Amino acid sequence: MQKHSLLDHALTRLDEAAAHLKVDPDVIEKLKFAREMTKVRLMIRMDDGSRKSFIAWRCRYDDTRGPTKGGIRFHPSSTADEVETLAFWMTFKCAVMNLPYGGGKGAVQVDPRKLSKTELERLSRSYIQAFARTIGPDRDIPAPDVYTNSMIMGWMADEYAQIVGRTEPAVITGKPLALGGSLGRDDATGRGGYYLVQHLAGDLGLDRPMRVAIQGFGNAGQHIARLLIADGHKVIAASDSEGAVACASGLDIEALLAAKQGGRSVVNTIGHGGHEALAPEALHGVDCDLLVPAALESMIDESNAHEVKAKLVLELANGPITPEADTILANNGVIVLPDILANAGGVTVSYFEWVQGRQGFYWTLEEVHDRLRKTMEREGRAIWEVSRGKGITMRTAAYVHALGRLAEAIEAHGTQSFFVS
Ligand code: NAD
Repeated sequence: MQKHSLLDHALTRLDEAAAHLKVDPDVIEKLKFAREMTKVRLMIRMDDGSRKSFIAWRCRYDDTRGPTKGGIRFHPSSTADEVETLAFWMTFKCAVMNLPYGGGKGAVQVDPRKLSKTELERLSRSYIQAFARTIGPDRDIPAPDVYTNSMIMGWMADEYAQIVGRTEPAVITGKPLALGGSLGRDDATGRGGYYLVQHLAGDLGLDRPMRVAIQGFGNAGQHIARLLIADGHKVIAASDSEGAVACASGLDIEALLAAKQGGRSVVNTIGHGGHEALAPEALHGVDCDLLVPAALESMIDESNAHEVKAKLVLELANGPITPEADTILANNGVIVLPDILANAGGVTVSYFEWVQGRQGFYWTLEEVHDRLRKTMEREGRAIWEVSRGKGITMRTAAYVHALGRLAEAIEAHGTQSFFVS
């Protein structure tokens, strides 16, 4: 049997959504393939004087609704398929949130933990040297993703400014505040997911306090943990790439954050305040109300989906559930708030950063939070209504919602009936 790529999997969502909407065939034709995918070799000088090559990509999947937008990932197992799929998801995510963007993504196949700080800076700058003609504030706007951060975005913005000969803050988002970043960008992904759950809690019949399990205690996972605990909920299990911890009465968030900030794993808190070791592969099966996958793709698949006991899954990671697993969860009555909605707080505040950078007029933290909350609630509510109205999952509803907007834009260029009477 032929193995399906991640993009094949992702495209099944497009077909599912199209079955619930009347869209012109041109729309599907346009969204089946990436518009532009570039692969380059980056070559940098290592600290020991040698030179080393790294493969890097940038994909602009579709730009009908505006310049492409999407993060840059530094990961040893990144592939072209993964980059195209992430860019496809960004196309839909920006349409879900009604941002004036298309979808893009980039990656370097590298384990950044094996580079020194100076090597990391050279690699980041060389990415921009390679893609300076691809990106631009009106063309393609990168941001951070897995294993990239605001300092890397700052180096990249600086490199772009040196190449074009002027400062250009709107070329990249997720920058440090001092270099034109936005207040509220650091926790935007977790916060957006938190606002969404808060808004739909009544409709979902969620009890308070919720018991929460978080798979992947990185940027997105840590921030939502902090917000949920401050709101009176309990995080009873958390994991990272090195292992998992659990505590039925609630993990000590300060201890977890201190471990991560010190560059250690959550497992270093075992023994503290009732924290116990948990097998990492048992995390998604923990008895809880809310499961938050916040690590990498395809971690819940057909082999383990039946173990999920949570009533609700909030996908902060991109693509953590395979289509086969999705069916199992739906059959078991588990509601999944899908990635293209649930983690869209990040790109929404990235959009706010781009707007502020273009205007040279910066907002207060309260303004950012208020606008983020309103956007999450507006689109979350609309998708909830589509889901109830059509009797479809929240994921299919989110794709239907986004496809409607993409179709409107693609069809505005004229469809077959306009040209052939
Ligand atoms: P991050 O690098 O800060 O965190 C990722 C975490 O996942 C790390 O703690 C890592 O140890 C953990 N992890 C890796 N492999 C694991 C495994 N096998 N089991 C358990 N944990 C594992 O990255 P992030 O920015 O928090 O992104 C996490 C996910 O959220 C990704 O899918 C990313 O695309 C998505 N996302 C992030 C943002 C954002 O603004 N940060 C926005 C949208 C989507």
